[in-house]
Amino acid sequence: MNSIIEYFTDIYKGVRSLWAGMRVTGKYFVSPGEIVTEQYPENRATLKMEERFKGEVIMPHDENNQHRCTGCGICEVNCPNGSIEIITKRTPNEEGKMVRVIDKHIYHLAMCTFCELCIKTCPSNALAWGQDFEHAVFDRSKLNKVLNKPGSSLKKKEVKS
Ligand code: SF4
Ligand code: SF4
Repeated sequence: MNSIIEYFTDIYKGVRSLWAGMRVTGKYFVSPGEIVTEQYPENRATLKMEERFKGEVIMPHDENNQHRCTGCGICEVNCPNGSIEIITKRTPNEEGKMVRVIDKHIYHLAMCTFCELCIKTCPSNALAWGQDFEHAVFDRSKLNKVLNKPGSSLKKKEVKS
């Protein structure tokens, strides 16, 4: 007897839950009000992801093509799966002293798990999340990216007054 009651109770709960969902759908169907869905990719020009969205690791550059990466290698060491490779070179600075600077900051997007350790642990705040998410490629090597732009240089430290 109990199992029969349970059987009909389950049916009742199922129908009630279906009705609750369909009521919301029906409401938007009859009177859309605030539109909560977007047509992708038709909306590419206006599409704006949420600030917290993690599309890919990027290295922001300013209007003078300068970044904050010193080539210290901390992000490379902290990345748990080897998605970052830091290649440095030695070059003379303004006083003619040889200093180590970043040559290539290589980011292997295909391996990245988006854990954020590189961004969080960078002492220079040189990395950030970019919002591009269209990463489909035919050639996997295109997912290996050099984050420092060609001809870019290290931004001088801002002196606080
Ligand atoms: S991105 Fe940051 S942690 Fe990585 S090498 Fe550059 S300064 Fe160092
Ligand atoms: S987000 Fe995580 S996995 Fe991706 S590059 Fe940074 S440390 Fe490596």
